Amino acid sequence: MARIVQKYGGTSVGDVERIRKVAERIKAIRDEGNELVIVVSARAGVTNELIARAKALCANPSEREMDQLLSVGEQETIALTAMALHGVGADAVSYTGAQAGIFTDKVHTKAKIKTINAKPIEADLKAGKVVIVAGFQGINEEGQITTLGRGGSDLTAIALAAALKADKCEIYTDVDGVYTADPRVVKDAKKLQEISYDEMLELASSGSKVMQSRSVEFAAKYGVVFEVRSSFNYNPGTIVKQEIAYMEKVVVRGVAVDKDQAKVIVSNILDKPGSAAKVFRALADASIIVDMIVQNVGRNGIANLTFTVPLTDSAKAQKTLEPVLDAIGGGQVAIHENIAKLSVVGVGMKTHSGVAATLFQALADASINIELISTSEIKISVVIDKSKAEEAARVAHAAFELEKL
Ligand code: ADP
Ligand code: ASP
Ligand code: MG
Repeated sequence: MARIVQKYGGTSVGDVERIRKVAERIKAIRDEGNELVIVVSARAGVTNELIARAKALCANPSEREMDQLLSVGEQETIALTAMALHGVGADAVSYTGAQAGIFTDKVHTKAKIKTINAKPIEADLKAGKVVIVAGFQGINEEGQITTLGRGGSDLTAIALAAALKADKCEIYTDVDGVYTADPRVVKDAKKLQEISYDEMLELASSGSKVMQSRSVEFAAKYGVVFEVRSSFNYNPGTIVKQEIAYMEKVVVRGVAVDKDQAKVIVSNILDKPGSAAKVFRALADASIIVDMIVQNVGRNGIANLTFTVPLTDSAKAQKTLEPVLDAIGGGQVAIHENIAKLSVVGVGMKTHSGVAATLFQALADASINIELISTSEIKISVVIDKSKAEEAARVAHAAFELEKL
């Protein structure tokens, strides 16, 4: 007997037929004598639809009301999944995040999980029930519903696996594992048998939406080994864990593209101590995450700052910066939304040279211009024109011969 946490994403529970298939799959594993906790997402497209409705009614909806609204998507699927299990003769009970004892901080729309009271779930498991938990949501100490950021059902599953000391954690999606690039973009992308937390985290935070990046961070922190696999077949998936075999032999393990970034150019600011500090303090106070910062200093004591922010925060960044520029003696803000970020990731970069040269040459050969560059120990990212994003992913994938991994 094993205790297993499984998460089914939006396409896996996309309609009644899919939910029935998932229920049959769960029932079969339950009948082998396993304890099962199932986390489900909203049906594919529902969260986006709800956001669109909110925006149609109010340009800048309150974050508390957004959480009230978006949590509805998962509340539908937990009840339907429990009913589907009853329909195939399995005892099951559904819980919202609050009912499952998932307590978060107060930050609406991107709350962090603080604690999980696993006692009610433990009791149900002992009583032989399959427990279905709504992904992506929790409750704060004031009793308000919170959500965990887009893709947050992954985090619910990993956090429950840690809290319940599960033997296995399986993330079911519409691809059968983590590939060397998005298999929808790069046709000869290869499925990885295993990937380390560090590489998975860099890929996720660079735009590979197969896993939510915060969930990978959580898994690494609590040592939750998990498998990404498909609910549409029985293929073995990709195991994500701390150390993987022969890691040093592979230089680059994956390519990621992020089309949800905007480039911000702050030009003509005074090149004196404190200017950059004021710009980035204001952005931080507005909870805007900044990446890929470059400063150019001109001749006449004037500097330009360029960086990227999430596309969803670009208007907020502009609004935040205008008063700051007035306060520091002038400057202009321009936002460019037609960009994409391409990243190559691999722990092998720590010990191999020439990765940047290979990437830049491959992009040059394809006449793709590089606008910004940033590097970390195991990642190189470049900002390019959005229309070139897919081509750049294919070119980079080929340059590192990832189809041969
Ligand atoms: P779910 O709704 O199950 O959470 P997502 O749509 O969030 O599923 O994530 C799965 C998708 O991630 C895949 O359909 C695939 O297009 C995309 N993806 C991006 N990069 C990768 C990658 N490196 N490996 C596998 N899938 C990837
Ligand atoms: N339904 C949420 C979203 O679309 C959470 C999830 O699917 O993981 O972001
Ligand atoms: Mg997802």
